[in-house]
Amino acid sequence: MTEVDLLARHRAVLPSWLSLYYQEPLEIVSGKGNRVVGADGRTYLDFFAGILTNMVGYDLPEVREAVEAQLRTGVVHTSTLYLLRSQVELAEKIARISGIPDARVFFTNSGTEANEAALLLATAYRRSNQVIALRNSYHGRGFGTTSVTGNRGWSPSSLSPFSVLYAQGGYRFRSSFRGFDDAAFVAACVTDLRELLATASAGDVACLIAEPVQGVGGFAVPPDGLLKAYEEVLDETGTLLISDEVQTGWGRTGEHFWGYQASGVTPDLLTFAKGVGGGFAMGGVVGRAEVMDCLQANSISTFGGNPVATAAANAVLDYVLSHDLQASAAKLGTRLLDGLREAAARLPFVGEVRGKGLMVGIELVGPDGYAPAPAAAAAVLEQTRRSGLLVGKGGLHGNVLRVAPPLTITAEEVEEGLAILVGALESVQRDL
Ligand code: PMP
Repeated sequence: MTEVDLLARHRAVLPSWLSLYYQEPLEIVSGKGNRVVGADGRTYLDFFAGILTNMVGYDLPEVREAVEAQLRTGVVHTSTLYLLRSQVELAEKIARISGIPDARVFFTNSGTEANEAALLLATAYRRSNQVIALRNSYHGRGFGTTSVTGNRGWSPSSLSPFSVLYAQGGYRFRSSFRGFDDAAFVAACVTDLRELLATASAGDVACLIAEPVQGVGGFAVPPDGLLKAYEEVLDETGTLLISDEVQTGWGRTGEHFWGYQASGVTPDLLTFAKGVGGGFAMGGVVGRAEVMDCLQANSISTFGGNPVATAAANAVLDYVLSHDLQASAAKLGTRLLDGLREAAARLPFVGEVRGKGLMVGIELVGPDGYAPAPAAAAAVLEQTRRSGLLVGKGGLHGNVLRVAPPLTITAEEVEEGLAILVGALESVQRDL
């Protein structure tokens, strides 16, 4: 059992805005494969991978052994002032698969830091603090990253180091272009971007930052051609494109290794984090040398790219590539989408099932087919937990269920989790 007063102690000493899932929050005490064990003694199938943190599940021998080998040297970390072999090796691999020509890699400890670094580089390179972000975006909790986060639930401050303009494009279901087909939606978003650029104050805009599939925003998937259409407009003025791949990278979307590749663009910078370290804090920014090298002063991350995190990340990346987990994400993601769409046809409170690869969102709505239904989403979350399945929640209104299991999830586990999830959706729909 969880120590009775752990929740009370958490509430007393951690900030109030650090919210926890579930009416009775869960303490996870161990994990193996794609399952975790709670302090309540129950085993849960993990359909959220922590929060896309555990890309290759729990206690993978390859990752454990790589980390243990580093720990046995007696050095957890010294500093990035010294040559670190596993950091250089990881950077070489990431540069090679980044799709960015003449790529350089800078390691950080989180997605927030990676995006802060990318925004610093873009604004320094362009000598402009004007930034375009998308509505319903999430890019982190730093000063710069909250200011480009277009989701009010996650953007607590109106203060900003940047002059930020928000474009349409991320979230068709709740936009003025709802119901538009792909081509009409892309055309409308391009017009919107052009109109936005016309309102920018004198001087060029530094960059546009976008998630290829919005994560916290509820796994909202734009048409494949959107980023390409944006890029054509941005190229007219040399405005940089930053692809935030914190959730979409590493093969998760199935069809490509990076989310941006669906659109056929080449971003100037891309950022990564979350599952790359297999649970260890790790993130980074990749960009072409001209942009990456533009800083006219020193900059350092003490822990970014440390030996333990890079040992883990090397093992995770090698495992993802050698087991072709991207192909598995494509196949099993399609099965999840199909299974949920089939069920949704019988469930009026499901407004939309959408996703790509192992990023599947279920948007719950009221009887009018549109009003957000966050209470129903919370009820499904509780019901799935009771049935031994962990899923996530998100969206602008907290009414989107998010499914993003480890990339190591098996076909049998997908069937097991799908059955539980559909059962929970049916039960909550019945009780409405
Ligand atoms: N970008 C995206 C797309 C994210 O989903 C997140 C985390 N939810 C971040 C950035 C920030 O990452 P971190 O929490 O590691 O700072």
